[in-house]
Amino acid sequence: MKTYKIAAIPGDGIGPEVIAAGLEALEVLAKSDGGFRFDVEHFPWSSDYYLKNGFYIPEGGLEKLKTFDAIFFGAVGSQEVPDHVSLWGLRLPIAQGFDQYANVRPARVLPGVTSPLTGGQEIDWVIIRENSEGEYAGNGGRTHRGLPIETATETSVFTRAGVERIHRFSFELARTRPAKHLTLVTKSNAQRFGMVMWDEIFFEVAKDYPDVRTDRELVDAMTTRMVLKPQTIDTIVATNLHADILSDLAAALSGSLGIAPTANLNPERQFPSMFEPIHGSAFDITGKGVANPIATFWTASMMLEHLGQPAAAARMMKAIETVTATKLHTPDLGGKATTAQVTKAVCEQLK
Ligand code: ATP
Repeated sequence: MKTYKIAAIPGDGIGPEVIAAGLEALEVLAKSDGGFRFDVEHFPWSSDYYLKNGFYIPEGGLEKLKTFDAIFFGAVGSQEVPDHVSLWGLRLPIAQGFDQYANVRPARVLPGVTSPLTGGQEIDWVIIRENSEGEYAGNGGRTHRGLPIETATETSVFTRAGVERIHRFSFELARTRPAKHLTLVTKSNAQRFGMVMWDEIFFEVAKDYPDVRTDRELVDAMTTRMVLKPQTIDTIVATNLHADILSDLAAALSGSLGIAPTANLNPERQFPSMFEPIHGSAFDITGKGVANPIATFWTASMMLEHLGQPAAAARMMKAIETVTATKLHTPDLGGKATTAQVTKAVCEQLK
């Protein structure tokens, strides 16, 4: 029987609640499938751990993570640690250290869920976020702190290799979808260096994919198109920052942040990939038992797909959709169900 080594990093806020739910569902699925099993190791890396030890990832931590088949990640972010410290302390060292350059974010309105958008039922998008450079390259500095001449710079970095590989990945993914349509999101009217190269390389790569229809949209116009003409969108490729913002909008338009999944992929499989719900720590509902676990179940389905278990991945999606269709919804979707009730219902389906 195939065994997959999974590193679970529940992290902060509702992270531990949804990761526990996700692991429970994965366990039930593996048992009923019978063809594979999971060997899960928990890593306590979180903001509490940081406050105690002074670091999120201990010495040798990334080396250890490398030995896993996949990383199942909850959330990072705490009221006691500045957000840029927690993000750069835990999530980004893994995503960048393991060259998980393709961040895949599907958005779809699940059965029984109502989109806040008129005509929103037509949403069926995949947003691909460049996940290794761009605005998140960490390239900048700050001098003369507190003085009137204080200066801070934050320079985006676009490399030909980085841009080409994400565009190629996006074309490959768009090609597998029924609509075979890829929209390039850009801001090359105002940003005339990196963004212009971003566009140029896209159209160079496009020549290798004549079967994929393309178009180009400025990021500001893209927000209105997502709201007013959702049916004209299929697959989207955008930079690290643009895609981050667009995918929160996509999640909200498809019902709730509580249902949106994401995969941080190292497509060449030199390193493990990382799977996480899009949402963050959500302190307002932490510990109340009402966090929506659907995003994490959908994330688990993406992980199964990546691990080479497409049938199990499809079964997970089917279980999720059967349960959302019954309107057993957590409060973020307008219901009264708890995390435990939704988890139990999904597990019942998986049995
Ligand atoms: P971050 O800054 O990391 O994005 P955050 O805590 O500021 O984190 P999110 O966690 O992304 O923000 O969520 C914003 C709000 O959306 C939360 O305060 C919560 O009300 C709601 N939310 C997010 N995820 C869920 C979920 N799984 N279930 C229910 N509600 C959720």
